[in-house]
Amino acid sequence: MVTLSRPQKELAELHFHLGQSVEPHVLWSIAHEQGIKLPSKDYWEFFDLVTLNKEKVTWEDYHKLFHLTELVQSSPVAMERTLYEVISGAYRVNNITLQEPGFNPLYRNREGERDLDQIILAALRGMERALAEFPKVRAGLMLMLDRRLPKDVNAIIVRKAIKYRSRGVVGIDIAGPKKEGFKYEDYTDLYAEARASGLKTTVHTGEDGTAEEMDHVLDVLPLDRLNHGFRAYTDKKLMEKVRKKNLTMCLCPTSNLSVGFIKDGKHLKEVLQTLWKNEVKFCINTDNPSMLRTNLTKEIELLRTHEIFDEAQIDQIIAWAFECTFIPTEHGKNLYL
Ligand SMILES: [Zn+2]
Repeated sequence: MVTLSRPQKELAELHFHLGQSVEPHVLWSIAHEQGIKLPSKDYWEFFDLVTLNKEKVTWEDYHKLFHLTELVQSSPVAMERTLYEVISGAYRVNNITLQEPGFNPLYRNREGERDLDQIILAALRGMERALAEFPKVRAGLMLMLDRRLPKDVNAIIVRKAIKYRSRGVVGIDIAGPKKEGFKYEDYTDLYAEARASGLKTTVHTGEDGTAEEMDHVLDVLPLDRLNHGFRAYTDKKLMEKVRKKNLTMCLCPTSNLSVGFIKDGKHLKEVLQTLWKNEVKFCINTDNPSMLRTNLTKEIELLRTHEIFDEAQIDQIIAWAFECTFIPTEHGKNLYL
């Protein structure tokens, strides 16, 4: 048997968080480059801190892991290298030619100590360096709001996204664990403002929340795509709504399995086949690849190992990812280059 050194198919990935997408050895190097005092001087102890080393974790523990990586990435130098390493690595290792990495710039500026514009511009610089080296790759940045932040603070992120739209920011998203008082309807105007400026919108929903909550989110936010959204599989009407709004779900199997939202391979099969049968479009993503020790090739392989879809169906799922990109393209060429 011939072992190929790269996957045969070109892939697209639209839902992954930068904090958990940098390989631990690169994160280690970035931290040392900046003289950051880490909780451990031993690499393998650090490795255990930034990766999930047990099969299942709680939703709370899952989010605690984010803090250290965000701290290491909290400077322009770190962000430039992060974007460069993540985009070039995803192409080299998984042949991902279309990428939309997401991050929250407010979790990269040491609570106001660093300039937000410098952080975003450095991220764009890192992205451009990778695109210049690998011209086959297209990429655009997603700026993420957080459910733990007040609306006026999240509004800053939306305004920055609008400011850097012509430089390579392609959309906005809301992520993070829910905090009391957070209401999706409070964001209708900000989402409309982002869209009116030419940005695209997605949101984390139908993951930790219920199908009812997701139904409400679809009513109050103007959306172009969904992050997760798998909870809709229990509700025929909701799946119909997703279909009518032409929203593609960016699903992340290992991420949902690791926190127990999807119980096991059998449950994953039930979820994905139900969505397919109800003609809901979806694509496969990693969410937090380095933290979860996964990659897009492995995630797609799950569709084969659990005998969920055949090759023609897998090709369709990959095609849906390319079709629902937020990156403005003209004849397949990245407009930013
Ligand atoms: Zn996510």
